[in-house]
Amino acid sequence: MRLPSGKDVYSSTPIYPDSHFTWGEATKNCTRPIQDLVIDGKLIISALNIEENIVQTAKNMDKYRDSLGGKPIIVNSWYRPAHVNSQVSNSKWSRHQYGDAVDWVCSHLTPAQIARQLEPHHNAGGYKCYIDKNFTHTDWRGEKARW
Ligand SMILES: [Zn+2]
Repeated sequence: MRLPSGKDVYSSTPIYPDSHFTWGEATKNCTRPIQDLVIDGKLIISALNIEENIVQTAKNMDKYRDSLGGKPIIVNSWYRPAHVNSQVSNSKWSRHQYGDAVDWVCSHLTPAQIARQLEPHHNAGGYKCYIDKNFTHTDWRGEKARW
């Protein structure tokens, strides 16, 4: 898959050198090429800026992975182009479209256990502990958000 910056990556390519997270995890095995986000005919964020968001989000997720003891993290959903998001979410402004939101699971820890460690410190974005569906949503939208 070709990134907006022109770099060619595979599913197994780390998002940045030494990251535990891959472009395959961010883009559903490279089936979701990064595209400009256009809503109601207006450019909201360019593909290149979304790529940059994904890189920064991988750095944030690697920090969380470390703080949880380095246990493997399974990504359920990360980047979603608008046409995918509209099929799976009612949220027109979902941060998954911006590349800075991840739905994930950590082996050996429940979402409630993860929330006790991370949620009080997650002030730069959205945090949602889905106890019933057994996953955690974190995003880095730049301001604290809860729902
Ligand atoms: Zn989410």
